[in-house]
Amino acid sequence: MTSYIWNPPAPLSLPIRGQAERLPINRIFCVGRNYHAHAQEMGRPVDKATSRPFYFTKSPQALVQDGATVPYPPQTSNYHFEMELVVVIGKAGFEIKAEHAHEHIYGYACGLDMTRRDLQLIYRDQGRPWDLGKDVEDSAPCAEVVPMPGVALEAGHIELRVNGQTKQASDLNKLIWNIREQIADLSLFYHLQPGDLIFTGTPEGVGAVVPGDHIEGSVEGVGSIHITVGQAA
Ligand code: MN
Repeated sequence: MTSYIWNPPAPLSLPIRGQAERLPINRIFCVGRNYHAHAQEMGRPVDKATSRPFYFTKSPQALVQDGATVPYPPQTSNYHFEMELVVVIGKAGFEIKAEHAHEHIYGYACGLDMTRRDLQLIYRDQGRPWDLGKDVEDSAPCAEVVPMPGVALEAGHIELRVNGQTKQASDLNKLIWNIREQIADLSLFYHLQPGDLIFTGTPEGVGAVVPGDHIEGSVEGVGSIHITVGQAA
């Protein structure tokens, strides 16, 4: 048996609806600018005919469980919510054809891509990596995984409320690159593995939160997520 100089961290995991076993998490991929109205509000409209999707990653350790209080992060004064549908990969694949993409889906979850918007935009405009804007500690809240093996969702209302007030409201049918296209494209670059998560992009209406705010998000047919923004820690 391997011995370690200190105890390795426990595996990262999410609960699965209707099941006692938990789902171990591998990587966290995020799709940028995947709803036209959000791309426009960020000042970077997307022409699908002349562009491809792009990605950034978050450390799996950024994962936060549903219901948690997440500390307001350091080095920002513009911490934004982004409500997103999360695809959970259940079967390994590389260079997956879009028509076979559904075979690699285990299920879905509601997630939040929390973002230091001030830093993201500074680094974006300087042509530098987005990590300090996006790979924020505790910035990937994700709710329970809902098993839907083989289902490529194509529509469904997606919404986010802060303190009960609706901030984001759209539909999965407005994704620029749909679930099949995302899996096919991402699998050109990565050998996808069970437990990989894909945060599929946020609709318009992103905005800042402050300590004490309560964020609730939902995706029709999937579920909901709830977090509270706590004091800086
Ligand atoms: Mn996002």
